[in-house]
Amino acid sequence: MVVLSYDTPRLGRGTSRSIDAHHSSTASSSYISPYMDSPFYLDPDKAPSAPAFVTDSTHVQPHAVEKVAYFFPKGVGEYHYGERHPMKPARLTLTNRLVLGYGLHERMECYSPRMATREELEWFHDSDFIDFLSKTTPTTPLSASFTRFNFADDCPVFDGMYDFCRSYAGASLAGARKLTSGTADIAINWSGGLHHAKKNEASGFCYVNDIVLGIQELLRYHPRVLYIDIDIHHGDGVQEAFYNNNRVLTVSFHKYGNDFFPCTGALTEIGVGLGKHFCLNVPLQDGIDDSSYVSLFKAVIEPCITSFRPESIVLQCGADSLGLDRLGCFNLSISAHGECVRFVKSFGLPLLVLGGGGYTIRNVARCWAYETSVLTNVSIPDTLPSTPYDAFFEPTHKLHEPLQAARVENQNTKANLEKIRIACLEQLRYLHGAPSVQMQEIPPDLAGWLETDQAAGKGNEEGFRTERADD
Ligand SMILES: [Zn+2]
Repeated sequence: MVVLSYDTPRLGRGTSRSIDAHHSSTASSSYISPYMDSPFYLDPDKAPSAPAFVTDSTHVQPHAVEKVAYFFPKGVGEYHYGERHPMKPARLTLTNRLVLGYGLHERMECYSPRMATREELEWFHDSDFIDFLSKTTPTTPLSASFTRFNFADDCPVFDGMYDFCRSYAGASLAGARKLTSGTADIAINWSGGLHHAKKNEASGFCYVNDIVLGIQELLRYHPRVLYIDIDIHHGDGVQEAFYNNNRVLTVSFHKYGNDFFPCTGALTEIGVGLGKHFCLNVPLQDGIDDSSYVSLFKAVIEPCITSFRPESIVLQCGADSLGLDRLGCFNLSISAHGECVRFVKSFGLPLLVLGGGGYTIRNVARCWAYETSVLTNVSIPDTLPSTPYDAFFEPTHKLHEPLQAARVENQNTKANLEKIRIACLEQLRYLHGAPSVQMQEIPPDLAGWLETDQAAGKGNEEGFRTERADD
């Protein structure tokens, strides 16, 4: 039995910097903007004699050396939802190859985590739902359960579906454990972030909600967890799971209106019961650009952190909010998307970074590789490293490409964005005096300590470690 009291906020661990004295550095003159008029693009190729690795000095880092753990489940990129389905797990292989090609694995501890156990999945999901997920194959005859659990066009039954879910969920749980054990400051799982899955229903290409599982693991040690979602779709599954909970503040930035999936995420959805005011939605319209998005993001997130005082943050980095996404309608550049990641990281709180949507897969891989460099404080060249997948990145072979070729008109007026900003700040006024939790007993986590080497063998070809529970 462990007795812990968490009354004192622990912001910016290891730093003497006050969070109030925050951020003005993005306007640094070292930023140049060759693409999309983005003030967030830094072109290391144009810096004279820039070596392959340049420690990013544009921001003062709160930690001397942040420990970053990277989780890539073996084989997770080889699953297939179906030929015409927009969700392509192969984007994870592309991402991983760029990360390795840039040498970023040398700046992180890399793990092939074990799959989540059924017991772990049932921390959130109903057992009859997991039962269906585990037993159904593409040859299973149709039954009422398909409708009941919403296995249809968006969420098809495909080969290996259950193992795919266990893989990405296992990686998010491993990342959360790495943070709560204090052995990493930042944990990355690009295969996770499947924010639409519900307790007993698949939804929006998501079957198991690894985010909810990861947050639940963090809540065993951290009294308050902040969830931030920058996918273009509303993070409805995570919101719903914690809607009456005042220990998780969920904040989602998304397109809202005109029947855009999943049709939730209005400004008026603020939580219920104990969770009232612990849910924030930032509904946006088509075509939002870099500077509007990033300035609104910072204006909302900074007071979330100062008011709610989370002990850790989970950041869902859905890349379908980029310009030119196959299913999206925003105009964000990779550098602006990454600036949101940089901003969240700069608070120095334990950070679980997850993937999510993203359907123009060459840009998803570019985005998440870039964000891995942001999280490891490395400035990487704009020319992509050579990988077996070079054809995906032709003809330019660049990391930062203009993503506004078929630019969607920005339908977000300044007045509207200001209205949203003020409404969010108004909401956050209720959070002063965030709930403190007397954590008198940490519930057992026997499953977390199982050492099940179902992942890669030791020292696979990419030098990844098999996850050890006692690591
Ligand atoms: Zn999405």
